Amino acid sequence: MRFLRLTERDRALVAGATDLLRKRESEISSVSAGVAARGGNWYFGVCVDPPDTTAGMCAEYSAIGAMVSSGDRIVETMVAVTRDDGAYRVIPPCGKCRELARGLGNPYVIVERPGKRGSLTKVRLSDLMPIDWKNRPL
Ligand SMILES: [Zn+2]
Repeated sequence: MRFLRLTERDRALVAGATDLLRKRESEISSVSAGVAARGGNWYFGVCVDPPDTTAGMCAEYSAIGAMVSSGDRIVETMVAVTRDDGAYRVIPPCGKCRELARGLGNPYVIVERPGKRGSLTKVRLSDLMPIDWKNRPL
């Protein structure tokens, strides 16, 4: 797995997702996501997890839904942010979100370096999920 250095643009995407969570965090939204699409547009979204239902939606789904609704189809970079012990931190996408993103490119995914909380890096989705559910390599 190659751990790549974040660009200024990557850091701005993380900041945008963090700002969104600061504004929209609630009892039904505890994660935000930012997606940079091919062509340069950015999209953001929060998770929707109402209590008493199992039909919640991840923040990545929300951001990617906005992206596709706006006419973009390829994810170049994605990030998800939550608040943990009072601090905002980047978290990796769940398996469902990895599958969704797999259908829209092989994006860079911004994550914390394993075992190094707060130290951000980016990896290719294919590093997080080398083989998809149809046994296709990325
Ligand atoms: Zn997810």
